[in-house]
Amino acid sequence: MPDNRRFLLVRRPDGAPVADDFRLETGPTPDLAEGQFLIRNHYASLDPAMRGWMDDEPSYMPPIPLGTPVRASTVGVVAESRTDEFPVGTWVVGLNAIEEYSVSAAGGFSQAIDPAMVPSPTNFLSVLGAVGMTAYFGYLEVCKPNPGDVVLVTGAAGAVGSLVGQIAKANGASKVIGIAGGPEKCARLIERYKFDAAIDYRGKSLDDLTAAIAAEAPDGVNVIFENVGGDILDAGLNNLAMYARIGLCGLISEYNNAGGKTGARNIWQLIVKRASLTGLLVADYVPRFGEGIAQMAAWMQSGTLVFDEQIDEGIENALPAFLKLFSGGNDGKMILKVAP
Ligand code: NAP
Repeated sequence: MPDNRRFLLVRRPDGAPVADDFRLETGPTPDLAEGQFLIRNHYASLDPAMRGWMDDEPSYMPPIPLGTPVRASTVGVVAESRTDEFPVGTWVVGLNAIEEYSVSAAGGFSQAIDPAMVPSPTNFLSVLGAVGMTAYFGYLEVCKPNPGDVVLVTGAAGAVGSLVGQIAKANGASKVIGIAGGPEKCARLIERYKFDAAIDYRGKSLDDLTAAIAAEAPDGVNVIFENVGGDILDAGLNNLAMYARIGLCGLISEYNNAGGKTGARNIWQLIVKRASLTGLLVADYVPRFGEGIAQMAAWMQSGTLVFDEQIDEGIENALPAFLKLFSGGNDGKMILKVAP
């Protein structure tokens, strides 16, 4: 077998990750034990959550051990196998790492996929992967939408947010408002993802943001799908309708904060509006992914749902590609092409 290039975490980042936190290492491809198979990774998913996995803090997953490759979902093909369940040539998706070859085992985190089902196998890292399932179950199950709701989506032009807006429209929301960075992304919200209104957060103070949401939702918002936190969450809290529901999906504005977290300052509004704020984790819905994938695939086929992927090339570009998530440099689901 050829050598295996792996993108290792060698130091815990303090704030935004820098090159010295990682090392690209070339080593032999591992030998397989009975029941295992070797995946030739073609694509790795770059997700904001990976930043949290680099910290040594209590979380829903253990931190990535130092000296090991950065954990990531990948899509690839079985290159060598010692199990009949995953014969050579099978396409698989699973939780592996940013490396050219990963070892997995039957009964583990890998699932066989049929790439003929979709335009590109990368779709199993985006619309039919964890991102799509986060939008689907996070909105429909956690936000508990009612017909006619006014819905606010933050991080709206991103992978999860763009899907949430479209699902909300398909599900009967009366108005879907998105918050994103810059005029181009805001135009995309309206023209491509069919949001009813877009707010550009860049250069806006908390008061400006609060006023901009109020102008679009004078009676308040019934649902917030929260991806960002900070001032953007605080401004949403200032605009709640009675009994509003907030699905807390992510806090990307805080992930690179060195030292203390900023936190939401307006949670008093939850009391004023008898509103709820519920954390969501896509992993809770793994047993129901079949249902979510079938519905998302049907919406894709009917044209109800469009999605975008940004595919950067080369394992050596893992860090700059990952950092685009925090600068807004990604247009769609951020994916790294690992195989040449
Ligand atoms: P994404 O939205 O495709 O990319 C991240 C986007 O966040 C950037 O493009 C940028 O968009 C925005 N952003 C970054 N820093 C920001 C800041 N300081 N203030 C405002 N916006 C900022 O990424 P994604 O994969 O779809 O993830 C979106 C959120 O969902 C993240 O918080 C992630 O952790 C969360 N998530 C949670 C789960 C779960 O199970 N709970 C699962 C998947 C994802 P702009 O250009 O608009 O600034």
